[in-house]
Amino acid sequence: MSSFDPPSNIELQGWGPNLWPPFTQIATATTPKRAVAGNGALLMFDDGPPLIDAISSWWVTLHGHSNPVIAKAISLQAEALEQVIFADFTHPQAENLAHRLSQKTGLSRLFFSDNGSTAVEVALKIACQWWYNKEEPRHQIIAFNGAYHGDTFGSMAVGERNLFSAPFENMLFPVSRLPWPSTWWEDNNLDKKEKDVLSQLEKLLTVPTAAVILEPLVQGAGGMAMVRNEFLQRLEKIVRQAGALLIADEVLTGFGRCGKLFAFQRAKLKPDLISLSKGLTGGFLPMGVTMASENIFQAFTGEDPKHTLWHGHSFTANPLGCAAANASLDLLEKNPELFEDFESRHRPLLQELSKHPKVKRPRLKGTIAAFDLDVEGTKGYLNDTGKALKRHVIEAGVFIRPLGDIVYLLPPLCITDSQLEHCYDSIRKGLDMM
Ligand SMILES: *Cc1c(COP(=O)(O)O)cnc(C)c1O
Repeated sequence: MSSFDPPSNIELQGWGPNLWPPFTQIATATTPKRAVAGNGALLMFDDGPPLIDAISSWWVTLHGHSNPVIAKAISLQAEALEQVIFADFTHPQAENLAHRLSQKTGLSRLFFSDNGSTAVEVALKIACQWWYNKEEPRHQIIAFNGAYHGDTFGSMAVGERNLFSAPFENMLFPVSRLPWPSTWWEDNNLDKKEKDVLSQLEKLLTVPTAAVILEPLVQGAGGMAMVRNEFLQRLEKIVRQAGALLIADEVLTGFGRCGKLFAFQRAKLKPDLISLSKGLTGGFLPMGVTMASENIFQAFTGEDPKHTLWHGHSFTANPLGCAAANASLDLLEKNPELFEDFESRHRPLLQELSKHPKVKRPRLKGTIAAFDLDVEGTKGYLNDTGKALKRHVIEAGVFIRPLGDIVYLLPPLCITDSQLEHCYDSIRKGLDMM
């Protein structure tokens, strides 16, 4: 045996000697199940019953697992052209996707990268270089408490600083912060919360600011924290007056998750830059895009090489990813009611569940339903009550993954009514056992 034999307790966790899973402390993790197939909202395993994937496999699976339309599009593309360098060549799938997304977002330029974090990195780099190219360099970036923008250094810098970013704290660039005035059903302190944030924003903006970055309508990893349209509209007005750019990180909220194709449309915003990933390919393949307005793009054109965006990834505009994204858009266009009407499917079920004494701050936006667990002890990500609930709910056949004491459902659009009801029933029974 080699000199790096793992301690046996780690092998006992079932991950084996070679895997290093994300966001997981392997020494205390539960044994993973081995997934072998997926169909619609269901995940199948080599052992034991199937589970309803009530969180879309980390928020990516949009139309359901192994959707045949997307699977076929990828397969056809793989047989025609699997990959091509995108600096010297273009290809039809990329052109088609860029055309469609620019029509849908109103932002004419599309820059490809590989995932949500890189889509945010690119937005930040474009925003900062835009000011540099205009020879009015601005350095302040404003972001929100509770934000999550990804795990690379730049996206980590704009996200909430916490346990996850602590080892790198002195390597992250400075960011100015504002509270996120999140709200829920029957919240009655909202006007004051929002007003306080907006006046803090006005103060911060007295320093020349490159960009304000936010997750429109719903902060995801920060706890499914939802804000009102009106707040975002007032914020945008103030940002515009200061001449700063507005970056919408729609990595989670895009592609129907919030009840419109994009959350910025529901909130009636006009961002300058938009980051997209997760649902972009229907959840089939990793791909990110950053949409930019023509006004921004123009500052990157011209003879001077220093005006170029010197950024790119090996797999830029991967044709398989583009084919999946185009097929996913076809599906969204064909049945928009699947995302537009999802909120009305959640509502009566969440209303009923919110009568449970352990359910606090119920909230709902499009396909995303969430509440806080009424817990004792430490609040937040490290609270164990969510983990206990997760175990009960999985036993009932539903996969959830609470964010500490915050429980949410974010199912694929294809979930059936009876599957969705079963999700709520399982949570209710789990809460009763605690
Ligand atoms: C998940 C997420 C990211 C990061 O995307 P990855 O593909 O995991 O790198 C960025 N922003 C938001 C809002 C997200 O939810």
